[in-house]
This record gives sequence, structure tokens and C-alpha cells, in this order.
Amino acid sequence: MRLDKFLAEVGLGSRKEVKQLIKKGNVSVNQQIEKSDKCQIDPAKDVVTFLGEDLTYQEFYYYLLHKPAGVVSATEDNRDRTVMDLFSPQDLRSDLFPVGRLDKDTEGLLLITNDGKLAHELLSPKKHVEKEYLAEVAGVMTTEDQEQFKKGVQLDGERTLPAELMIDETAQDTSLVRIILHEGKFHQVKRMVKICGKEVTYLKRIRMGALSLPDDLAKGAYRALTKEELQQIK
Ligand code: URA
Repeated sequence: MRLDKFLAEVGLGSRKEVKQLIKKGNVSVNQQIEKSDKCQIDPAKDVVTFLGEDLTYQEFYYYLLHKPAGVVSATEDNRDRTVMDLFSPQDLRSDLFPVGRLDKDTEGLLLITNDGKLAHELLSPKKHVEKEYLAEVAGVMTTEDQEQFKKGVQLDGERTLPAELMIDETAQDTSLVRIILHEGKFHQVKRMVKICGKEVTYLKRIRMGALSLPDDLAKGAYRALTKEELQQIK
């Protein structure tokens, strides 16, 4: 990898800015000052330092975001703020993207990464990665609805995979439920609840596979995945 690319990738500045730093003699490769931005380095082997400080290269980034309502799960949008607008400039990279989508009014766990392979695996319908949601529903959900979820319902001309509906609380005309899906069809939770004759009034994703939304992660906040969390989903 070219030295200027490496320095830009580790977040030292734009390609233009890092070229200036190299020219000034601020960058060393294996203890030798390197003044050529075209110098080829191997990030796994060569020790690159900036003003004496070692720089470590990271190819993939993984963040867990607590998506608030009102932002869209996209990298760019002409009308709405996106989940990427919640990132601070020092963490924002142009190759980061959300793994799957939550509706604009849905809150909760969203994985943001630049690892396309992992994203593909987590989203693949064949892998059946569980997605768990907490939903407030207008209407009282029943054991018949639970059966319906278990059997699957017709959406877009095909039957959904069996899903789990757990009824945590019911009041006179509302319910608090948890739903586990094994796939991710468009508006799936809302549409499955609608088929049961009720309406989702609030939706939050609390888990994706082994990754749970931490209680202490505020709405709109994000943090890097821990090593353990990464191992669990890889
Ligand atoms: N199901 C929905 O209806 N909406 C979401 O955002 C996620 C799952």
C-alpha cells in the first residue's frame, strides 16, 4: 500500500494533507524518515510512525449504534438526516454503511461497518440470523396471533419463516410484545402485526444474532464493538 494512502486510512488527514506531512519529514518507516508519498509499505509488517508515534492500521471497523427515530438507515439522503450524520468527524469514513435497514421511525440496534463480507453474512436469508424487536401495539395480541406468527404469514406472495411472538404485557387495548424474526423483509414486523388486525405504534430492535443493544448506550450514541462482541458475530 502507498504510504500516503496508509496515512489517510489511519485518519491522519486527507491524501493532500498527509503528502505535506511526509514532505516535512514527519513520517518514518522502520525508523527511517521517508519523504516519498509513493513509498510502498506493508501495513502488517512495516512500522510507520508519525512524529515518533506508532500508527496502527485497521482494515475493518465495526460500530454498534443506538438508532433514534427520525434518521434514515442510509449513507446519503437528499431529504433526511442519516445514521452516518450521527458519527463524529474523526470516526466517519466514506466506506462505512449500516448493515440492513430500520425504518425511519424505528429505534434500536444498528451495526455500522465497512466489512461487506460480514454484512452479507448477517443479512443473508440463508443464515437466518435472529433479529429481536420490542413493540408497542395498539390492540390486544392473543395466543391466536402467536400461532399465526409461528406458522408464518403471506407477505409479498410468499410465506414468512416461522417467527416468535412473546406477549410481555397487555392492557385494555394495548400490548407490549417481543418478536423474533429470522429474516428481514420490508416493514416485516409492522406488516405481520397488521395481518393480525393490530398496529405497531412503537418499534425498537434490541438484538441481532449474538449482539444485544447495551442498556447504557444512549439513543443516537455509538461505540466500537468489543473484541468479544466481534468474535460472537463473526
Ligand atoms: N420491521 C419493521 O416493520 N420495521 C423495521 O424497522 C424493522 C423490522
